[in-house]
Amino acid sequence: MKKVNKSDTEWKDMLSESVYNVTRKKGTEAPFSGALNKNIEIGTYHCACCDNVLFESTHKFDSGTGWPSFYEVASNMSLYFKTDTSLGMSRVEALCMVCDAHLGHIFDDGPKPTGKRYCINSVSLKFNKKDT
Ligand SMILES: [Zn+2]
Repeated sequence: MKKVNKSDTEWKDMLSESVYNVTRKKGTEAPFSGALNKNIEIGTYHCACCDNVLFESTHKFDSGTGWPSFYEVASNMSLYFKTDTSLGMSRVEALCMVCDAHLGHIFDDGPKPTGKRYCINSVSLKFNKKDT
């Protein structure tokens, strides 16, 4: 798999400020602020930085947290995980496998069958609606 490697300056030039702050600086958007939080259209969710396919709309669910939530990833090329101990908590961070964008965190209180909740910032995602 081909990794995307860009310098901080290149990302800053390429991305909008909100996308840059979340994906490259590990920020978190305000809950209920994201355009894709309530999105229920059929399609695929891509990385806002590199277009890697991250999630399918069929795995999205309403967690009530205010962030787009999924219980499964699109493929084993989508994400990788890292322990995040910032803010005095131990959480598992989700990152894009292709470009290392910070996407959100994973929790173990999701629905069946996986029991996982991928809690993802809306600005980290680009939605591609499926043609019908
Ligand atoms: Zn990416």
